[in-house]
Amino acid sequence: MIIEIQKISENGSTYEGALPPESLDLEGDKFIRPKGDVRYVLTAEIVSEQVIVRGSLETELDLLCVVCAEFFSTTVRVSSFLRAYAIKPGMERLDLTEDIREDILLEVPHYPRGETDETEHCRVCGRNLKTNTEARSTESTTEVWDPLNRLKL
Ligand SMILES: [Zn+2]
Repeated sequence: MIIEIQKISENGSTYEGALPPESLDLEGDKFIRPKGDVRYVLTAEIVSEQVIVRGSLETELDLLCVVCAEFFSTTVRVSSFLRAYAIKPGMERLDLTEDIREDILLEVPHYPRGETDETEHCRVCGRNLKTNTEARSTESTTEVWDPLNRLKL
């Protein structure tokens, strides 16, 4: 994800888009499988010789459940991406891809211990371990994504 420094407007510029799953560089990873694009809504602004970039990231991943050893789908969100890049002479563009990757991977959950909750569902992925089916409904994404939707206005 490239930002052209000269094109950042005085009041800050907003960038909205998606990076392909390959940008997470997880090919061959045994525990994490990317499922889709990494969506971003970022604002860049120049403040005293620095480009300040902040915003949100979101992507879907399949993670290996440590309890039942099955993959389950989850949405990973970074709600406060924040970086400051010093502008060096001659610098024209910033590549944020590596920093986006880093923040997404930091948000990948560390798995809790414990087998099941009182309803026999896996505490990690929600799968019913008795029947090995019927994962509990996952939380709706709309609510968390809402602030980003408002940004589009
Ligand atoms: Zn599980």
